[in-house]
Amino acid sequence: MFYVKVSYVATFIKRWFITMCLLSAHTSFAEDFAKHDELLNFSNTVISPGTLKNITLEIAQGANDPASFIPVTVVHGAKPGPVLAVVAGVHGYEYTSIIAVNKWIAALNPRQMSGSVIIVRVAHVPAFEERSIYVNPYDRKNLNRSFPGKKHGSQTERIAWAISKNVVAKADFLIDLHSGDGGEWLSAFVGVYGGPLASNYPLALSVAKGFNFPNIVRYKMNTQQQIDTKRSLNRQGVAEKIPTILVEIGENGSTATQHINAMYTGLNNSLSILGVTKSIAAPSRENVDYFEGTRSVPVTHSGLWFPKGLGGQYIKKGDVLGVLKDYFGQTLGNVIAPSDGFALYGLKGPAIKKGQSIMTIAQPVSTLQ
Ligand SMILES: [Zn+2]
Repeated sequence: MFYVKVSYVATFIKRWFITMCLLSAHTSFAEDFAKHDELLNFSNTVISPGTLKNITLEIAQGANDPASFIPVTVVHGAKPGPVLAVVAGVHGYEYTSIIAVNKWIAALNPRQMSGSVIIVRVAHVPAFEERSIYVNPYDRKNLNRSFPGKKHGSQTERIAWAISKNVVAKADFLIDLHSGDGGEWLSAFVGVYGGPLASNYPLALSVAKGFNFPNIVRYKMNTQQQIDTKRSLNRQGVAEKIPTILVEIGENGSTATQHINAMYTGLNNSLSILGVTKSIAAPSRENVDYFEGTRSVPVTHSGLWFPKGLGGQYIKKGDVLGVLKDYFGQTLGNVIAPSDGFALYGLKGPAIKKGQSIMTIAQPVSTLQ
């Protein structure tokens, strides 16, 4: 009996401590919930607390390419709280995220939310409609290397600009949803932005853990040049001084139910960890593999790539990752692992161009704190 009481008190103290930690995290990342009030007027549309609105962000016609749009849903919680931005479809062929947010939005109830969500349902509509992997069909730019964009730039730059101004700048926390693109294999992971130039890394890590994926990678933001060079959406979040994570699951434009459901559950857990909803997040998995940074493996010739299928495995420096052949079937040579690490994502082949990376290798660490 005594033991039960002691254990009860210990549990109570533990819960109190966790609650206090979460509360202090919240007050430090969105102290006055000022951005929540701004949602009353989103892109010239009035959105009352406790309601949801679908909004079309218009992308004007450019000098050399057509007009476009971005479908956005704003879920304005009844009570003040943090504003979470969730972006799907930065790469238009990565369908997992696009289907997952459709399902997720249908289940959100703004009347029960303390805080809000801005959801970009398809960030890169022209790429989506043309089923174009990586790049925009008009200017051939990668949206995820084009932030903050330009108001009067090419189509990709105008889309990036609209997302930077209307979504990232309005949020207290940013989640960017991806998967393996067309022709890619991928082991599910969450990327967390840390280092001296990132904001509230501990909160980003706890939201990352809430996805219950097997792998977590930290990207350390040490220099401004890192943030500015070919700036991704996550790095735009870092530049705006908000905590941010990258979510990656499914390969080759997956529409598998298991991947969609994993993303959906992770998004729900994010809302509870951020205090927007009162639901309790499922406990995080114990067996997470942690990584600090990644390195790519570029090839020296264009041609046909035949991987050995080492995706999702630990590899050693010197391992043969696959064979490269020319267009006439002659073997150009093996591609060799340049370091030990974990095969995180890469190209299924056969198409490969000189300079492209056939694999991204993550560097394992014992833990991330
Ligand atoms: Zn992507």
